[in-house]
Amino acid sequence: MLFRVLRKEAVADLFGLLAESNRMVAPVQSGLDCLGSPLYAFKEVTDYYEISLTYTTTKIPAKKFFMPFRETMATFIVAGKDWTKKIDLNIDRPFVVFGMHACDINALNKLDKVLLGNFYPMPYYAAKRKNMFIVGIDCVPQPYCFCRSMGADTALHGFDIFLTDLGDHYFVEILSDAAFNFLRQLSVSEPAESDHALYVKTVSAKNNKFSVRVDTTDLTKILDMEFQSEVWEKWGKQCLSCGTCANVCPTCYCYGVDESVGLDLSRATKTKLLYSCNLIDFAEIAGGHNFRPESHSRLKYRYYHKHRGFVEAYEEALCVGCGRCGEACLAGITVPEVIASVRDQES
Ligand code: SF4
Ligand code: SF4
Repeated sequence: MLFRVLRKEAVADLFGLLAESNRMVAPVQSGLDCLGSPLYAFKEVTDYYEISLTYTTTKIPAKKFFMPFRETMATFIVAGKDWTKKIDLNIDRPFVVFGMHACDINALNKLDKVLLGNFYPMPYYAAKRKNMFIVGIDCVPQPYCFCRSMGADTALHGFDIFLTDLGDHYFVEILSDAAFNFLRQLSVSEPAESDHALYVKTVSAKNNKFSVRVDTTDLTKILDMEFQSEVWEKWGKQCLSCGTCANVCPTCYCYGVDESVGLDLSRATKTKLLYSCNLIDFAEIAGGHNFRPESHSRLKYRYYHKHRGFVEAYEEALCVGCGRCGEACLAGITVPEVIASVRDQES
């Protein structure tokens, strides 16, 4: 990794350079919530001054750009006895995510393990992910963030450039050749000792701002021991089975495939739709049998996948502690509270 410092005014030039040949996706203010606080969303942008690099978090993660909620996988055209199949990976040119927080970069790294690392990589995801350039940006911990507990408050890989605000300039971490070549066209300089010291002080100040902590010590074992605990029924009674938590989660990737055939049988499409394990029919199979008909069994499954099964497979949880699911849940169910309640069963 290389380090540089970049004047804040030069970030607009960096944006301009990247925008010459890429689609640009960045956080912008999209409105106000009922309390008058700003809401943010990742959107495609053309103007640097639309962007809000000091955003808190977005309600929906940037995964909508590389794993859309609905995506056509293939179309089939039938003409007489002949038919043709067209596969579209749904990307016309590379894109840049300009201003991604460390938790969301770490979420991508986790998705890569599942969707790129297996014997059968997901081509629709790979096509977008391999044509992506990421500019990370530091953040201020919000009251619902627990990324530090999940080891996701710092991104060590999965980005090209990472910017940390040091006042009138950014401390720049450079991870890729492409990033180095872009930055060479701007007036970057070597960091002085004082920049290193200020960087360490800034990161340490950020670490002190986390107000929520999740104790993950021996969590996989505790989950094994508490599989039959009544605590799951308590949360299940509260859960509305709406699926919102999975939709806003940057690490949830489950999907279903819908096949539809035109009434005149001349055309068919295969569509991928993101799905949620909390929805009532998630584990329903042909014949109508449902392996998880109760809401508590579905909610429990989500927690066991993220904090038990994924840890067993990849030695890390499938949760980056962004807190989006708890913020979006109309039933007020949050990861820190659920995990604390399960741990309490052991005390
Ligand atoms: S936990 Fe909350 S967001 Fe998730 S399905 Fe249940 S009610 Fe909906
Ligand atoms: S489970 Fe919740 S806190 Fe964890 S990554 Fe998903 S949305 Fe964020």
